[in-house]
Amino acid sequence: MIIDAGMGDKENEKFHDIYGVERTRHLDHTLAEAGLAPEDIDIVLASHLHFDHAGGFTVRDAGGRIRPRFPRAQYVVRRGEWEDATHPSVRTRASYLLDNYVPLAEAGVLQLVDDDQTIMPGVKVRRTGGHTQHHQMIVIESGGKTAAFVADLIPTTAHVPEVWVMGYDLYPLDTMAAKQQFVKEAVEKEILTFFEHDPLVAAGYIKEEDKKRTVVAGR
Ligand SMILES: [Zn+2]
Repeated sequence: MIIDAGMGDKENEKFHDIYGVERTRHLDHTLAEAGLAPEDIDIVLASHLHFDHAGGFTVRDAGGRIRPRFPRAQYVVRRGEWEDATHPSVRTRASYLLDNYVPLAEAGVLQLVDDDQTIMPGVKVRRTGGHTQHHQMIVIESGGKTAAFVADLIPTTAHVPEVWVMGYDLYPLDTMAAKQQFVKEAVEKEILTFFEHDPLVAAGYIKEEDKKRTVVAGR
């Protein structure tokens, strides 16, 4: 399984310029480092469908056709997120690019989930809302330990403090409420938390002392 897939390689120079994209490494490199190729992935699970998370779900082939990037995978998306992403508004349409996910439905590899549930043994999704109405985090349990892929609920370690939320969030008060609840749980249960957008700290343990939060890098 892979959770989210980065922004992919379908966009042009202008797009890279606007978003400050540096493309020295991409997903194939990191998969190879894990001893995997795109054909090895059975399930692709989406936190939400913004281009920087779902762009890597599809690829443009030599003939210019857009197809699923992981040829053997089923793609799992929350139904509410799918509805919002396929009917973007003026506020959301810069982030929802149809080429990243509509081809999955056309190829018959899309699975929509309606609520919080187990995707595979030890892997559960949980709606956080906030960033998007149906943004979800992923909780992974294995060997008595818990990890959480919180995606844009806490994109970087700088967003661990209560009031630090992104301007991208559609419902910032919901982000703050969901974060408050998760951080309490993460501190108490020592949950390994992934920071999808952090350039330096891939994952770590959130600590809280005298209301001050810190992160101890971990793996
Ligand atoms: Zn996002």
